[in-house]
Amino acid sequence: MLFILKDNADTSQFIEKIKMSSASYKYVDLDGRRVVVAWPDKYVEGIADESIAMKVKVQTPFQLASKTWRDKTVVNVDGVEIGSRKVVVAAGPCAVEDESSVIEVAKAVKRVGASMLRGGAFKPRTSPYTFQGLGIKGLEILKKAKEAIGLPIVTEVLDTRNVTLVASYADMLQIGARNAQNFALLKEVGKSGKAVLLKRGMWMTVDEWLSSAEYILLEGNSKIVLCERGIRTFERATRFTLDITGMVYAKTQTHLPIAVDPSHPAGRRDLVEPLALASIAAGADMLLIEVHNNPEKALSDSEQQLTVKEFEKLMERLKLIAEAVGRTI
Ligand code: PEP
Ligand code: MN
Repeated sequence: MLFILKDNADTSQFIEKIKMSSASYKYVDLDGRRVVVAWPDKYVEGIADESIAMKVKVQTPFQLASKTWRDKTVVNVDGVEIGSRKVVVAAGPCAVEDESSVIEVAKAVKRVGASMLRGGAFKPRTSPYTFQGLGIKGLEILKKAKEAIGLPIVTEVLDTRNVTLVASYADMLQIGARNAQNFALLKEVGKSGKAVLLKRGMWMTVDEWLSSAEYILLEGNSKIVLCERGIRTFERATRFTLDITGMVYAKTQTHLPIAVDPSHPAGRRDLVEPLALASIAAGADMLLIEVHNNPEKALSDSEQQLTVKEFEKLMERLKLIAEAVGRTI
């Protein structure tokens, strides 16, 4: 049960009533809106108090992420708004490999309309024998790229022990698909107060994905963008199956903005553009696209990273789709 409290009201009596009910509860301040989540519902159903502005019985396992109490959240990442009319494109290499190539790609993607730079310093690789990322050195390179080019940075954090470190370099923390149910990590990025790009695990239902967002929200952090990146299905011809259905459904369930990563489900560069176009047509608020200055030589995801030229063409086509659905790029 959600209790949305009146601004400035004295809540001490209400909190006493919650305590008396033996319910579990958490008080959170989400962008200045004071909310108490209390569970199980049956313990608190009868509670009334002067300080309550709205009481919402949410029927889904996720409560704070639910659209039942809030229509829309716009996430501000260093001045870039995600979830408003403008579609945000974050582009850059799969992994940060060296300074000059990151700067080159950052310049190029900015020139053709990207508003954020992506790039992994800590890489979650399936095999321990493949390139694991440059770590802190990679973060330093991202920082330099930001200073030189001015695009806000989104980069992945893999480990609770590194949240403070990565948060001191990044404007947005990426939780990768493989960590989408790492609850300790979700709580930690919640506490950091930084904007979070929460990927959907390739095994997760939409409800499970939104429940992961709930862990971050419960720490008082509503700066969350959900990111669909493909799920595992029986289809083996592509790397993953981009679940547009799930993305569209998620939008009916949550106030949080939604991104799509067309690069990882595609697994090959010729499929990236059509998947990106479909995502924007279907209502995605943001795209996360892998672009490399020399994809053939890339140390990870070489097959799916776009050249700068391909990315430029994609952006041109994207503008037409965005316009057709009443948005801008
Ligand atoms: C990435 O975007 O760099 C990445 C590793 O993606 P995912 O977690 O979706 O596999
Ligand atoms: Mn990648």
